[in-house]
Amino acid sequence: MLHIRLEQSLQHASRQRTKVAIVFIDLDHFKRINDSLGHSSGDSILQQVALRWRQILPANDSLARISGDEFVAILVDVESVSQVSFAIARLMEALETSFKLIGETYPVHITASIGVSLFPDNGLDVAVLLRNADTAMYRAKEEGRNTYRFYTAEMTTAAFEYMWLANALREALNRDELRLVYQPQIDLQSLNWVGCEALLRWQHPEKGSISPVKFIPIAEQSGLIKEIGIYVLKKACVQTKSWLDNGVNIGRMAVNISAAQLQDPDFVRVVQAALETSGLSPQHLELEVTEGTLMGRAESNIEQLEQLRHIGIHISVDDFGTGYSSLSYLKQLPIDKLKIDRAFVKDIPEDVNDMAICSAILALGQALDIRIIAEGVETNQQAEFLRSKHCHEAQGYLYSRPIEAGEITRLFLDL
Ligand code: C2E
Ligand code: MG
Ligand code: MG
Repeated sequence: MLHIRLEQSLQHASRQRTKVAIVFIDLDHFKRINDSLGHSSGDSILQQVALRWRQILPANDSLARISGDEFVAILVDVESVSQVSFAIARLMEALETSFKLIGETYPVHITASIGVSLFPDNGLDVAVLLRNADTAMYRAKEEGRNTYRFYTAEMTTAAFEYMWLANALREALNRDELRLVYQPQIDLQSLNWVGCEALLRWQHPEKGSISPVKFIPIAEQSGLIKEIGIYVLKKACVQTKSWLDNGVNIGRMAVNISAAQLQDPDFVRVVQAALETSGLSPQHLELEVTEGTLMGRAESNIEQLEQLRHIGIHISVDDFGTGYSSLSYLKQLPIDKLKIDRAFVKDIPEDVNDMAICSAILALGQALDIRIIAEGVETNQQAEFLRSKHCHEAQGYLYSRPIEAGEITRLFLDL
């Protein structure tokens, strides 16, 4: 029936030169109602919701339930986007009054996530319009639920790109397309080399190099981060051990750890295994965890970090200043180092606010007795400013870009 009505609406609209809005609606957390109150309560909610919506939709519009808690409304005679927004606002408002269930003491609240596609703007046939409305609904879910989104072409591009990247990344692991580059970290007073950060690179045979900023989030979402994380840790430990054995003391090897890796209850064992198989001592390993990850306050994350720190591994807080650190909490965390985010370094000396933020972070580090490293240092002026404020270490293009292992060896031996 929905398909027939849609076909008719599209034909009618193209004759009248009006638009049709396909409104894809999914109730939020409907499963919880079924699970907690039982299926007959769930059924009753679905009926009540449908009734409320039917009462507010104009007679020419249609409403269908297409599966479990999914509805599609067809809005006809649409002349403007604002007309559609208005209609959707009314659908959402209709849910604001709570629902009563027979035999239940407490009323139930429910919200919906809604995606909209427009004929002819977002597609000319039923299948495409439904798919695009569905995609927009997913976006509404992603962006916090109880909201609506209009379909945009970028959503399809983004969805395609995501799928492509997730598949290609899986192959990349098997095809050995991932490798590490290393960026030196230096002591600002002595200018001695104190460490290296391992940074992941993906060289795709056709697409060229793909940035970690793009593929790490996809690895996290698709669960591949566990395997990738193991690869990075092993590789970085083996490389560091091999340098040490050849008289190249690069200091500590800093390895980036993403939130998803820390959530793995096996994480401590993964790190220990990397140390054991490579023979690297924990004193040469540092783990970089972002501020956001640490401040999530997941106790199990902190416990794992404490255990790792206990065996001599250093923990540093990456991208410091970009999250929302609770300063009183900071002191209780198992951390050795704060990494001032590049955002606060890049506009020194033009931006006085950034300089004030750097100074404040440095003062904080001194007060709490935590080492500070500035990342993204590109000019001598930046290095001078940081040194004058007693920043301990720096990393950035001024000293070296991230480079291949072989180049690190050469750079080190030239020093
Ligand atoms: P990050 O850990 O904050 O790494 C610093 C980023 O700044 C690196 O980008 C580095 O190449 C870049 N950078 C260093 N010095 C300068 C400079 O002077 N100027 C400028 N403009 N940029 C500089 P990259 O390598 O693209 O990495 C981006 C992010 O990807 C990293 O941020 C990190 O969050 C993530 N990442 C990289 N490798 C890994 C990894 O092995 N595992 C995980 N979980 N994340 C990784
Ligand atoms: Mg880092
Ligand atoms: Mg950083």
